[in-house]
Formats: sequence, structure tokens, C-alpha cells
Amino acid sequence: MEGCSKCGGKVFYTRRYSGESLCSPCFSASITEKTRRTIAKHDMIRHGERVGVAVSGGKDSLSLLKVLHDLSAGHGSHLVAISVDEGVAGYRDEALEHVKSLSAQLGVEYLTVSYKDLFGFSLDEALNWGGKEKRDVSSCSFCGVFRRRAIDEAAVKAGVTVVATAHNLDDYVQTFMMNLLHGDVSRLGWMDPAYSDDSFEIRRVKPFMEIYEEEVALFAFQAGVPFQSVSCPYMHEGLRTEVRDYLNRMEAEHPGMKNVLLRSSLDVISRYAGTDRRASVSCAVCGRPSSSAVCSVCRMKETIKQHINYTG
Ligand code: SF4
Ligand code: ZN
Repeated sequence: MEGCSKCGGKVFYTRRYSGESLCSPCFSASITEKTRRTIAKHDMIRHGERVGVAVSGGKDSLSLLKVLHDLSAGHGSHLVAISVDEGVAGYRDEALEHVKSLSAQLGVEYLTVSYKDLFGFSLDEALNWGGKEKRDVSSCSFCGVFRRRAIDEAAVKAGVTVVATAHNLDDYVQTFMMNLLHGDVSRLGWMDPAYSDDSFEIRRVKPFMEIYEEEVALFAFQAGVPFQSVSCPYMHEGLRTEVRDYLNRMEAEHPGMKNVLLRSSLDVISRYAGTDRRASVSCAVCGRPSSSAVCSVCRMKETIKQHINYTG
């Protein structure tokens, strides 16, 4: 059997889409290098910046923290790990412990914010009414709106100028497909890697957006990143699961198809970039940038308020 394409060592992983075989150290180095190139190509992180890394405690985000830490010397950047505690009993605690210990190990600043402190209720409390069949949004759509705001609040608190999230290539192309399937073509412009919200000073970037999910998982395994044993009891992905399965089948039959879809997505997205600027007014309730008179966070808070004994 042939050895590693780079050093001739014992093969650990073969990239079916490129035919490249890599030993374990060369594979890890390739992930770090690929991330560095993505960052440079899309001008994601600038020299000397204070960078927030959104770390949920899952394998992808812990790997991102590790890779960005390895790259931080070259970028002259200073990292702050940012975590959100949604308040789901028995689920988030384990993940937050992982974030805390990896941050300490790497000597990275660590900041956590909670739904309870920011919004006045935990996710458990927010979802504990009516039964999910009575709510017109899924738990994850609900949670996602608050999570995004929580990360923004944490980023402001941490004094960072950019926030990196661990979305990988699979996440990116799935979102692209979901927007098409939902008929949300106008949202495509928001997916532009260079997109920035005019009225929110902090940029959002996805340094893993050119790396397959499978490769991030392998990197995590190799790097000894802990895997979470409990999953969120509210997880509801619906259509996304079907899209993921479909794309995985396509990739198995036609290696490299996800890479092609990424390139096509970026091409289409670039044509929509800047055509639908999201934030135009200030929310009448909280003052944050919003595309409607009252932002989605405040609207959802209002709905929750009507259903639970809310004091926030
Ligand atoms: Fe929130 Fe869904 Fe993630 Fe649970 S799985 S923490 S509900 S986004
Ligand atoms: Zn608001």
C-alpha cells in the first residue's frame, strides 16, 4: 500500500474527492492549513484582532477553538471563547465543562452568557408550554433566534471585532439548499462570506466553511477533543436531516460533489450579496438593528411571556 502523499508515512485518511492519502500528522496539518487559507481568502480575521470564538462544546466548535489557537500566533490575534448556556437541564453542563477545560488548557479567555440572565427565562422554561404541536416554530428555530442574540451580546461584552462560528462545509451547503427549498432566495445574500450587517459592528465568519464535516470529526477525534455524550432533548431538525442524508448519498456515489456544490453556492450567493440588507431600523422595544419594527427576539419574548410566568 502506498504511503502518505506528503511524507510517505502510514496512511490515516484518504480524501476520496482528491485521491490524496494522508498520515495522521499530515491530515491534522492539512485541516489547519485549509482553515488558514479560507480565513485569508475571505479576509475573515485581520492581523491583531480580538476574536470571539462561539464554542458550544460540541466537537466542531472545540476543534475550531484549537485550530484558531494554533493560527493565532501567525495572525497576532487574541481569542475569547464565547459560550451560551441555553438552560437545558442535563444537556449543556457537560459541554460547558469541556469548553472550560479546553480554554484553560490553551490559555484562552472564556466568557459564558445564559438565556436566563439575558432574557429572563431558560430554554426549558421557554419551551415548557402548550406542547410543541401548539407552537408554530420548531424548538431549534426558536432557540436559534435567542442564541444569535446571546452571542452578539457576549461579543459586545468581550470587546471583540469578529465572531467565528464552527459551521463546516456540510452545514453551509445544507443551509444553501434549505433556503432554496423554502423559497428564501432573498436570504442567500446573507450567506456571503464577506457579508456584514451595516448596523452591527461585529463581523461573523465561518473559518471551517470549506472543510467537510467528516474531516472536522476526524480532526476532533485525533486531537483528543471530547465528544458530548448527551444530545439536546429539543433537537428538531426536520427538513435539514433529509437534506443532509441526500447530500451524503450524493457524495458517496460521486466523491467531491459537496465541494462542487459549495463552489456553485458561493457563485450564486455572490450574485445576491448586498441585494437584501437585513437591518434597516432599530427595534422599537430593545433598540437593536431589525428588519421589522419589533425584532424577532422581542416578538418571541412576547409570545413566551404570554405563556409562562415571566418576570424579565
Ligand atoms: Fe437549541 Fe435546537 Fe441546539 Fe437544542 S438542538 S440547543 S433547541 S438549537
Ligand atoms: Zn428587539
